[in-house]
Amino acid sequence: MKLQARNESKKNKLLEVKHLKKHFPVKRGLLHIGKKPLSVKAVNHVTFHIYEGETYGLVGESGCGKSTVGRSLLRLIEPSGGQVLYEGQDILTASKKHMQHIRQEVQMVFQDPYSSLNPRKRIGKIIEEPLIIHKLGAADERSDIVMETLSKVGLQLEHYYRYPHEFSGGQRQRIGLARALVLNPKLLIMDEPVSALDVSIQSQVINLLKKLQQDMSLGYLFISHDMSVVRYMADRIGVMYLGELVEEAPTDELFASPMHPYTKALLSAVPAPNIGRKKEQIILKGELPSPMNPPTGCKFHTRCPFAEKECKQTVPNKQKISDNHYVACHLYQP
Ligand code: SF4
Repeated sequence: MKLQARNESKKNKLLEVKHLKKHFPVKRGLLHIGKKPLSVKAVNHVTFHIYEGETYGLVGESGCGKSTVGRSLLRLIEPSGGQVLYEGQDILTASKKHMQHIRQEVQMVFQDPYSSLNPRKRIGKIIEEPLIIHKLGAADERSDIVMETLSKVGLQLEHYYRYPHEFSGGQRQRIGLARALVLNPKLLIMDEPVSALDVSIQSQVINLLKKLQQDMSLGYLFISHDMSVVRYMADRIGVMYLGELVEEAPTDELFASPMHPYTKALLSAVPAPNIGRKKEQIILKGELPSPMNPPTGCKFHTRCPFAEKECKQTVPNKQKISDNHYVACHLYQP
């Protein structure tokens, strides 16, 4: 089992996220002056950690807040509260200088790197930019590092002189990865990194990510809506619903015995690996409620087939099911 091996080797926590919150204030008209201000609770009390060299998958429907978590960790959007500890140091209170050092070691990879690639610059120069920003190495050293990084991500040295429009989607994602890896980071925050790619290209990039992780002992936060991809990539998975983590478990355990009704519904849509084995799909009723006006008690009660009176009134606490397996649902009492 992947996680047992990790526990045995007692890896250090690279990132600890504690009660992270991101609430967006909502502007209201003159008629509402004096009334309670409204906010969209995009992320609410999200707590998890990532070990060195581990992949933590963050999953949930579109609009559940998983991308907001990713962007809040590096303060690309400023969180409203909580703590984000990178190697024990709080990112949210870090000075500008310290933040620059953290940004060198924690890098983001986005779904579509093309929009961030300057069409008038050659790829070599684009990948070199982070080294210049962080004042690392002389010009010839930087060129060597860029060449080395190109080969790490499976690109050819001749690609150094080409322009972004000359590359396919998969190659552009490799360029995005090279830009993140050129600073020799310890943690990559990846937001839907393979969602825009064809299935065959997806598997190439996923295999590359696995190899890079092994070679460089990288930690990954892997944000995705695709449970099949996350199953292959992640050691542990956190399931988000309406801005909150509702279940967390090692990947094998989550797929073998999901506890939260929402996790069960998400997993029921993943094709079964055994041909011939039938799987009953759980269709959730209704839409994801608005985070501006979330349901009371358990936020999932408006769509949950097991909802009872208590679910509408009381927020369920996180319960420990087994080592590293937690669920927030009234069906599981201590
Ligand atoms: Fe469903 Fe109640 Fe559990 Fe929420 S607490 S997931 S409504 S059973």
